[in-house]
Amino acid sequence: SIPLGYFGGVGGAARRGVLVKGAMYLDTLTQVKTIVFDKTGTLTEGVFQVTEIVPKNGFTPTELLTLASRVESNSNHPIAQAIIQAYGKDIDGNVQDYQELAGYGIRAIVNNQVVIAGNDKLLHRENIEHDTCQVQGTVVHVAVDNCYAGYILIADSLKEDAAEAIEQLKKLGIEKTVMLTGDSKVVAENIARQLGLNSYKAELLPEEKLEALEQLIGETAGKKKLAFVGDGINDAPVIARADVGIAMGGLGSDAAIETADVVIMNDAPSKVAEAIKVARKTHQIVW
Ligand code: ADP
Ligand code: MG
Repeated sequence: SIPLGYFGGVGGAARRGVLVKGAMYLDTLTQVKTIVFDKTGTLTEGVFQVTEIVPKNGFTPTELLTLASRVESNSNHPIAQAIIQAYGKDIDGNVQDYQELAGYGIRAIVNNQVVIAGNDKLLHRENIEHDTCQVQGTVVHVAVDNCYAGYILIADSLKEDAAEAIEQLKKLGIEKTVMLTGDSKVVAENIARQLGLNSYKAELLPEEKLEALEQLIGETAGKKKLAFVGDGINDAPVIARADVGIAMGGLGSDAAIETADVVIMNDAPSKVAEAIKVARKTHQIVW
């Protein structure tokens, strides 16, 4: 049976905006030594803005942005929102056979032409020659019928408590903080350095995030407990696999919230440290 004190702990966490779905997760939280974060929407706001439009092969900036908006018009990825917002007009054009390629980007038939928008990996996969960009920000390449049309640079900002969140966790004796992302190495490196994360893995496909987590669990042969914090649909399997799966409740996808053991109501990563503090206090009272 679960000692009564744990219910007090669950209530205490709830008052701090952290929903704990079972008293046993408080117990596991006291043993967590590794915390793994998703990037977009977890450590960053998940709200992108277009910062640069770089057309190639004779395309104009307007043509590039128009193409990108059309192909992104059915996506609700934060990247798509940024491009559609920058375009700022009603999107016309006939969009068919729309495909969202998780971890890569988008492909659709726009006015009878194959249009793709996405990262380096997508262009490699489609064998399209393109610029490799060493720029700060997320690059969205666009191509029409195998012709490279250029790229759009977009940027996301760190959540205001992201640095504090990591610092708090270190103070609490968390041994390892890790970020897993589908975004580029340049972007990941920059964030990891700014936040003082112990390590990161970039350019991961959704299934590779799960593999990366398995590897981290394997490093301690499962002896040290691990928590994963994420927000996306693609994060649900990783949230499920972690000893404690934590989801962002505001921005988070329904799948992530449903699968999670712990939900952070206001999306602030610093609440992870708060949850650990409540868990430790509860543990002292109970044992
Ligand atoms: P994260 O791991 O940061 O949460 P995702 O797994 O959602 O990111 O996406 C990984 C990468 O796939 C993005 O950084 C982007 O390069 C590409 N991508 C995903 N969706 C889109 C889209 N709608 N348009 C363009 N690129 C996309
Ligand atoms: Mg995400």
